[in-house]
Amino acid sequence: MREAVEQLLLPAECLLCRALLSFRNSARLVCDVCRHRWRRVRPPWCARCGQPEPLFGRCRLCTEWPAAFALARSAVWLDGGAREAVHALKYGGLPRITTDLAAAMVGLDVPGLDSGLLVPIPLGRARLRDRGYNQSERLARALGRRWRRPVVDLLVRTRDTAAQTALTPEARLANVAGAFETRNAEGGTRNGRTPECSAFRVPSSTFERPLVLVDDVFTTGATLAEAARALERAGAGTVSAVTFGRAVVPDFT
Ligand SMILES: [Zn+2]
Ligand SMILES: [Zn+2]
Repeated sequence: MREAVEQLLLPAECLLCRALLSFRNSARLVCDVCRHRWRRVRPPWCARCGQPEPLFGRCRLCTEWPAAFALARSAVWLDGGAREAVHALKYGGLPRITTDLAAAMVGLDVPGLDSGLLVPIPLGRARLRDRGYNQSERLARALGRRWRRPVVDLLVRTRDTAAQTALTPEARLANVAGAFETRNAEGGTRNGRTPECSAFRVPSSTFERPLVLVDDVFTTGATLAEAARALERAGAGTVSAVTFGRAVVPDFT
């Protein structure tokens, strides 16, 4: 409802360059020109984590990942307009920009997608309250519409983690350790620490399907790896991940 009203009140212009959007694209927030400027992440990359290979030696970014976490891919590098678009999603109160972000992610190649389920990365309670929505869940739903795949809220955040932005890769790992739990068939979580999940029950057979984590940004992959670890503990065999943006890490580019 709020989104419908917002669409009526806001002039149909591109959020990034202010060009008027055609009637056909009036539900969008970003024009075709700006969308084509987003810098796509392309191979050669590490087959597993999708990061450009380092100049010397093997990729170290994904060596500590749990065995079930098979693959991560991102659509575009997080700079310029792509960074602005994610900012609008997270801090600008514009969840419908996920339509534009999902359009850029549609071509990402994920194994087992035909039978797969999309799993958004959950937000901590405090941040969900502040933002009013979970940006990853909105993104998963927009992508699910394009891919015609169901979105299943399998994960619960057991605690609010500190903002990751200023942390080193090692500190990020420690920061997210044990941050996720999966929902179970009884409507609680497997460790029973998070009681308020009773609205949603997950049969254990769900975890046998290929699971695709969805998040807005891949930085070091620590959050996704921790989420994959929780899914693996619940019996998941194949977990992959897709994100809209990938942070430009100077060491790797
Ligand atoms: Zn534009
Ligand atoms: Zn790698």
